[in-house]
Amino acid sequence: MKQDIQHDMQHAIATYASQIGRDPLLIQGAGGNISWKDGNVLWIKASGTWLAEADTRDIFIPLDLAQTRALVAQGASDFQSARIDDSTLRPSIETSLHALLTHRIVVHVHAVDVIALAVLQQAPALLQELLAGLAWAWVEYAKPGAELAQAVARAIAAQEQTDILLLANHGLVIGADSIEECALRLADVLRRCAASVRQTGALAPEAARITSHEPELVAAGYQRCQDAAVQELAHDPLSLSLAREKWVMYPDHAVFLGAVSPVMEAQESLPDFFQRMAGKPVCIIMAQQGVMLRSDCTPAQEAMLACYAAVTARIANVSNVVCLTADQIAALLNWDAEKYRQSLSENKH
Ligand SMILES: [Zn+2]
Repeated sequence: MKQDIQHDMQHAIATYASQIGRDPLLIQGAGGNISWKDGNVLWIKASGTWLAEADTRDIFIPLDLAQTRALVAQGASDFQSARIDDSTLRPSIETSLHALLTHRIVVHVHAVDVIALAVLQQAPALLQELLAGLAWAWVEYAKPGAELAQAVARAIAAQEQTDILLLANHGLVIGADSIEECALRLADVLRRCAASVRQTGALAPEAARITSHEPELVAAGYQRCQDAAVQELAHDPLSLSLAREKWVMYPDHAVFLGAVSPVMEAQESLPDFFQRMAGKPVCIIMAQQGVMLRSDCTPAQEAMLACYAAVTARIANVSNVVCLTADQIAALLNWDAEKYRQSLSENKH
């Protein structure tokens, strides 16, 4: 009987998870997460798996909840030792978020509407109005893992009830006691945070978009990006400014698309550009020309680029955006911070 109930829950979660996971405005690639608690067991998505696959493969692994919470309290970011099965999958790096909230169901999404808000300087004040009446908390930016867990623990401890966490420069976490409640709460937050989407659509006619560098780039292993919304990044003046000046606004962006802005200016030669980038970036945003993708670009990287296009189309003012600092980016990529800062200053043009 107990096993049946557990099985039903697993099935219901898998259906819900795959639904959310297939919405690129909520989840991109292996990002985001869902967990549920069953007594002392915390079921969490495995690291690197896609929520979209939840209904076709086993992506959840069981952890001992008490042990996981003890690890979180110790500042751990690896929860392998709390596993109670022999799966070879690793628990998500964001496991701590899920253990800290006491709700039965916890969903973490990288919703583009929420990200576009959560990168703004005035986000806390704006959200105060938008989320009035809800049990929500603002969490200052922290590196995903142990540091984010500490920031979340502080935010939760500061108030009586927290059902919703708005993570600066990152995304959204919802806690609820059933899937239905979770879905309603998520829909409510998304409705309140819905941003107006700038209609870029300034694309030049197809023929005019062919860049003089295209044959050279094809020879270098690039191909034209087929996503019209991503192509807009090269044409929309505001998106271009954002890409030039505030390239890294949230963690996965740096991890999947690189730390240095890949905007290639019209007057720049390809060898100069590659030298400035210290290699071949996953994508190249050629100002006023178009966006090229490296041929080995993965579906996760493409999803992250589409997310970026969707976020930038929801931002109305470049100067209001707070991007990640050199130190924060270096920490994400496990780089030597000083070396990274130097590479950034060399790359200023
Ligand atoms: Zn996240």
